[in-house]
Amino acid sequence: MFLNILIHMKKIKLLFAALLPTSFLLLVSFKIPDTKLLEAVPINPVNLTIYWIDTEGGAATLIVTPAGESILIDAGNPGGRDSDRIFEVAHHVAGLKQIDHLVITHWHNDHFGGAALLAAKMPVIEVIERPVADSLLLDKNFASLMQAYRVMPVKRRSMLRPGATISLKTLPRGFQKLSIQMVGHDKQFVPVTKTSTATNGCETVKDKLVDNSDNANSQVMVMNYGPFRFFDGGDLTWNIEKNLVCPQNIIGTVDVYQVNHHGLDQSNNSLLIKALAPTVSIMGNGTQKGGGPETITSLRNTPSIQAQYQLHKNIRADSAFNTSEEYIANLKADCDGNYVKLTVAADGKKYTVSIPATKHERVFETKESHITSITSYVPGLSQVLKP
Ligand SMILES: [Zn+2]
Repeated sequence: MFLNILIHMKKIKLLFAALLPTSFLLLVSFKIPDTKLLEAVPINPVNLTIYWIDTEGGAATLIVTPAGESILIDAGNPGGRDSDRIFEVAHHVAGLKQIDHLVITHWHNDHFGGAALLAAKMPVIEVIERPVADSLLLDKNFASLMQAYRVMPVKRRSMLRPGATISLKTLPRGFQKLSIQMVGHDKQFVPVTKTSTATNGCETVKDKLVDNSDNANSQVMVMNYGPFRFFDGGDLTWNIEKNLVCPQNIIGTVDVYQVNHHGLDQSNNSLLIKALAPTVSIMGNGTQKGGGPETITSLRNTPSIQAQYQLHKNIRADSAFNTSEEYIANLKADCDGNYVKLTVAADGKKYTVSIPATKHERVFETKESHITSITSYVPGLSQVLKP
């Protein structure tokens, strides 16, 4: 009898021993969905960050969301220098493995020229682009650059209608709602809405010569992150800029204004700058390009502006037209390609602008309230183009 009990207990032990690995496996397999969920968001999400990468008079504005998603607006010049600098900031500074959305504001070399070389260095998932302007096909360099751009490997080529937003991942808990909205392109913009306000003095500022270049067709974007707003208008020029705010302001006000067209005086209509009423301006100029006297004067005369940043010091004869050196990322022509960085607090109420290379850092408060006419517009759909 006793022996029987012993044998029985041994059998039970053996049964447990046999079941143990199975139950462990069950536990492990049960855990897998959790692990996958964790992988969907970064373990330590960082605050929303914008980098203005130095392309010496071109443009490359990199937005990294707290979900680890990236939006690059323009890709600098051809030739390798700018794509290397973008890769350096995107991969080594921001820790990105890919560019999720690449927006090309217009078809000039200093904006789309670096795209194909960048796509060879790191995956580009989606490009958001406009139809190609026929007139540019007359430019010999344009044809070969466009060929490289056309064949670069991307998963999706899209065009956003005015009012449509870039499709972005939901941010982790504790962060603000984020949207990046297309105000318009090819001189077609979102309509006036109920909350649009009239701009004073529209009749007092004269138009400039009609701009038949592709600059006037630039894609214009507005980013909303909780209460924080950022404007990027590519190389939009004077008369079309006026259409954004006259007679009614279809954008509203912003916190940060990326100075249009590298600060050239063909752009930066004082009506636009005053109506957007930014707190901070950031200019992607070069030593010899942009930062025009009229633009610098308009920025200085805009009461809302507390700080004007420049990627480069203007070293031309008219070097009186510079911001103070503390706010310039690169002071010499033989530069290190220093970038300007902006991080927005998780609640969106404060943001820090810094130049890591010079250790400059300044904190700004987001405006207490914005006029946000564009957000009340019901957007059209985005359109997926043929690859
Ligand atoms: Zn440009």
